Amino acid sequence: MRIVLLGAPGAGKGTQCKYIVGKYDMLHLSSGDILRQHRAEGTELGKKAQSFMDSGKLVPDGIIVEMMIDRINKAPKIGFVLDGFPRTVNQAVELDKALVLSGKKLDIIVNLKVDEDVVLKRITGRRSCPKCGAVYHIVNLKPKVDGVCDRDGVKLIQRPDDTAEVVVSRLKTYYQQTVPVVDYYKAENNVCEIDANKDAEEVQETLFAELDVLVK
Ligand code: AMP
Repeated sequence: MRIVLLGAPGAGKGTQCKYIVGKYDMLHLSSGDILRQHRAEGTELGKKAQSFMDSGKLVPDGIIVEMMIDRINKAPKIGFVLDGFPRTVNQAVELDKALVLSGKKLDIIVNLKVDEDVVLKRITGRRSCPKCGAVYHIVNLKPKVDGVCDRDGVKLIQRPDDTAEVVVSRLKTYYQQTVPVVDYYKAENNVCEIDANKDAEEVQETLFAELDVLVK
């Protein structure tokens, strides 16, 4: 199964991807996580991406397309779920071209729909582990010890792009550049829209019901 998961920042793409790879045998490819890994390792790509990410802007298409298509082509021969990519119509077009070249096609595009007030609460309360990437929330998903990662004891941080000002900028970018991607896919693909204002478990049930139909 090859899935693209679309949705505003804070729609729960990362959380749902973890559920998906826990149930189905597939690879999770998150463009945001891959970029953060580059930054943590201090690579050239990470340095180029830094200022765009911290201000809530998109990293230029050329950089992202090359990075993601390389990962897709090197992926083991199991399915994949793309999280955070494509985020512009141009990225979607380049992804389509690369898939045609490798004889693959997307099975489903899932669009997680969420209201702006929900996004703001979710993202500004989010805390992340700088070491393992685990994600918590100050109200909904607290770590056992306040401010400390359950897995490795590292102090949790607020991502620089999770502050209220940057979230507003990320949302603006989302409406301008990523919403058109949904329409692009609606023209020729199987697009499934899910209400993602609900709890993660409820969203997961609806999502799994859709994916189970494809697996059968
Ligand atoms: P995310 O963790 O998916 O919210 O991504 C964090 C940041 O990484 C975004 O705000 C962008 O600056 C950058 N980024 C991630 N994916 C993409 C993409 N497909 N195109 C451009 N920039 C991206």
